[in-house]
Amino acid sequence: MMFQFTEEQKMIREMVREFTKKEVEPRDKWMDENGFDYELHKKLTQAGLMGIHLEEKYGGGGGDPVTSIIVIHEIAKGSASAALFLDANWLAADLILYHGTEAQKDKYLPQAAQGKIFAFGLTEASGGSDAAAIKSTVVPAADGGWVMNGGKAWITNSGVADYYIILAKTDPEAGAKGISAFIVPKDAEGLAIGKFEDKMGMRGSATCELAFNNLRLPADALLGQLGMGFKYAMQALDGARISIGAIAAGLSEHAMNIARSYANERVCFGKPIGKFQGIQFKFADMAAEIRAMELMTYDTAKMKAEGLRHTLEAAETKLFSGTRCTQICLECQQILGGNGYSKEFHVERFVRDAKLLEIGEGTNEILRMLIGGTVLAQK
Ligand SMILES: Cc1cc2nc3c(=O)[nH]c(=O)nc-3n(C[C@H](O)[C@H](O)[C@H](O)COP(=O)(O)OP(=O)(O)OC[C@H]3O[C@@H](n4cnc5c(N)ncnc54)[C@H](O)[C@@H]3O)c2cc1C
Repeated sequence: MMFQFTEEQKMIREMVREFTKKEVEPRDKWMDENGFDYELHKKLTQAGLMGIHLEEKYGGGGGDPVTSIIVIHEIAKGSASAALFLDANWLAADLILYHGTEAQKDKYLPQAAQGKIFAFGLTEASGGSDAAAIKSTVVPAADGGWVMNGGKAWITNSGVADYYIILAKTDPEAGAKGISAFIVPKDAEGLAIGKFEDKMGMRGSATCELAFNNLRLPADALLGQLGMGFKYAMQALDGARISIGAIAAGLSEHAMNIARSYANERVCFGKPIGKFQGIQFKFADMAAEIRAMELMTYDTAKMKAEGLRHTLEAAETKLFSGTRCTQICLECQQILGGNGYSKEFHVERFVRDAKLLEIGEGTNEILRMLIGGTVLAQK
C-alpha cells in the first residue's frame, strides 16, 4: 500500500470483514434468486454501516471517503449486489452532504444514518452516456414549488428507496448548464415506480424505471443551486467510480478464493490442478491485478478525502478494475471446469455480477473517451 490505514480504519475493516462473513456472504445467493434483502438492510443499519462516513452530529460514524471505500470493498468480498446497493445509496445521499443547505443536511442526513435509502436518477430510457441530453423537465409552480415531468431508467435502489435525487432540465435551452438536482420523496404525488428489472446480475440490488407525471415538489426540493445539477452529478460519479473499483477488487478476490480452494483440491493427471503451470499463471495474473485494483482504488479515495480533484484517476480506476474483474471471474469459472458452469459453485453468479461494472456509472467506452481526451490534452 502507498499509504497506511489509520488505526480506526483498520478496526472498521476488521469489523466489516466479520460482518460480511457472518451476514453478507451467506445471503448473496438468496439475493440473486429473490432480489433485494430487507433483512440485510436492517442488519447494515443496526451495525451502523449505512451512515458510517457521515459526521457524528448527523448520527453517523464520523468516517471519511476512505472509510466508505473500506466498507464497500469488504462487503463486495461477500456480495457485489450488497456493495452496489451501498454505492448507489451513498452516491445519492452524499449529494445532500456536499451541496445541500444546512436545513437539508439537518433534515436528510440523520435519516441516511438511520437507514433511509437513497437513489440517484440521471439515466433516461433515451440514453445514459450523453447525460446532458436528458429530457425530464422541472418548471416553477405558481405556489413557489416545482412541477416535474419525464422519467428515468435503470435507477439502482428504485422501488426500495425512501428518497430519490433526480436530475432534470430547468432550462432546456442551456444544455448541461440547464440541469438541476431535486430531492424527491418516494410518496411524492405524481411519482410512479415501474416493475423491478429482470437483470442478468447484481440481482440483489433493486432497479426500476421511474415516471414523473406533473410531480409536485416544494420550493426546498431544489438541491444546491439552479443549473448546477450536471456538475454535481459528474462530481458524484467521480466518487462512485472509486466505489466501483472497490466492488471489482472485492468481487475478484471472492472469485479467486473459491478458485484457489478448488485448484488445490481438484486432482487431474494425478495431482492437484494448482500444481500445473497453466493454472498457476492464471493465479499470478489475478493476484497482481487485484493488488493493482486495490492500490488504484485506495489511492484515489485518499485523493478524494484530501479534497483533490480525481476525475481522471477515478475513471482510470473504474476502467481498469471493472474490465479486469469480468476477466478474472471468467478465468475463475474456467478453473472450476464444468462445476464453474453450475450455480452451486457461485462463480457463474460473479461473472453475471461483474459485467455491470463495465456499464453502470460510465461505460468503458465513455471512460476511455474521458481518459484518452485528458491524456492527449496533457503537455
Ligand atoms: C444495473 C444497472 C444499474 C444502474 N444504476 C443507475 C443509477 O442508479 N442511476 C442512473 O442514473 N443510471 C443507472 N444506470 C444506467 C447506466 O449508467 C447506463 O446504462 C450507462 O450510462 C449507459 O447508458 P445507456 O444504457 O443508455 O447506453 P447508451 O448511452 O445508449 O450507450 C449504448 C452503447 O454505446 C456506447 N456509446 C455511447 N456513446 C458513445 C461514444 N461517443 N463513443 C463510443 N461508444 C459510445 C456505450 O458505451 C454503450 O456501449 C444503471 C444501469 C444498469 C444496467
